[in-house]
Amino acid sequence: MARETVHLDRLDGFEFEKLCERILSRLLHSSSVERIGGVADRGRDLLIRGDGGVTVVECKHYMSATVGRPVIQKLHSACITSGASKGIVITTGKYSKSAREEAAAISDIRMELWDMGRLASAADSAGIALVVDGGTASVRYWPSPSGAETAARVAATMRHKSHPRPVSEILEMNVRQVTLEPYYLVRADVSQEFSTATYHIHSVDERGLAYAVRATDGKVVGSDWARRFAATRLSDAVSPEMPECPVERQQFSVGIDRLHEIVREQIIDDYSSVHSYKGRNGRTYTKDCEIGPRSVQITDTTMALAPVYLAELDLVGRKYSGRIISGNDDVVVDCAPLWTCCVCEKPAKDDALLCNACGAVSHAPKRWKPHGFECRSCEKTICRPCAYWKRRLLFLKAVYCKDCSTEHGAKSRF
Ligand SMILES: [Zn+2]
Ligand SMILES: [Zn+2]
Ligand SMILES: [Zn+2]
Repeated sequence: MARETVHLDRLDGFEFEKLCERILSRLLHSSSVERIGGVADRGRDLLIRGDGGVTVVECKHYMSATVGRPVIQKLHSACITSGASKGIVITTGKYSKSAREEAAAISDIRMELWDMGRLASAADSAGIALVVDGGTASVRYWPSPSGAETAARVAATMRHKSHPRPVSEILEMNVRQVTLEPYYLVRADVSQEFSTATYHIHSVDERGLAYAVRATDGKVVGSDWARRFAATRLSDAVSPEMPECPVERQQFSVGIDRLHEIVREQIIDDYSSVHSYKGRNGRTYTKDCEIGPRSVQITDTTMALAPVYLAELDLVGRKYSGRIISGNDDVVVDCAPLWTCCVCEKPAKDDALLCNACGAVSHAPKRWKPHGFECRSCEKTICRPCAYWKRRLLFLKAVYCKDCSTEHGAKSRF
């Protein structure tokens, strides 16, 4: 889709209504979007008629102002007069606490409060990138390498002992579906001094902290993820390299206000600590050095969609399914069976072996009763269920693969 960029700061209220109309009509193909607008709109800027009934939309182009409770009350009554089942407020500004509470308390009509994040995400789906002064409102994308490139990266993360064919030769990957998962990357500074009248106890001063938050449920994801996110070169559009398969796009359902609250709470949690110090009288005291919300400055917020590949991995005919997330040049593979021994069902991380006969994963032969073997004759890596053995010395067994078993007279199975 051809992409268009709209600078939000340069729109007046009327142009903003028209923008919302354009975004909604592109998203809701089957519905009609009618603009009422003007001074006499009585809290109804747009009217959407579709299969799901009537929706009333109120657009508030506030860059820094706050949408208060009266706007919600007005929209509520506009919904009732229009026979609508749903009301949406769209603003580039914020919602007051009482506005949120009012919307949550309304039970006869579904009220949605769209903030900048939700609007930017909807605009992005409609092929429009939103830009604001001194920040990014547009949704950006993680790189999405081709299926072949991703398969090569997955193979590189598998350090399994594999003979005669290495994992990279055996692995075949088929991407079944792509889910575009929404994430926020928030940059913040925290700075606070803790002291008594006479003693300096402790100070916190961190700049450019990076926190990644999943925008579907507000979960703060691990710091390793945040670091990868911060280091990832994001682009303005989905990569054309992405495998051809169904794409599911998830919404930024956590608003930006709530997001900043979440990050503040996390930083307070991470940087608050207890310190002890000696008083003038020689006694030891402890002080709770809890970071105050005002000591945290959010400096930047980025919205990005990360393509998660739901893939089927084929190893010698055995199928594994996993979630795969690629970055610029690395990959995270979420598929526990690839690192789980088929014999003892315990993790096999650095000592994994890939059976070249059946594609199962087992522990490499290190222990007294091995779960995986190398054929004594051809060195093929095999799992215990694929192995044949014959008695060699009193207790020792010679283990062979199926192909070599007849020649060496190894008939027993484990
Ligand atoms: Zn094992
Ligand atoms: Zn096997
Ligand atoms: Zn063999």
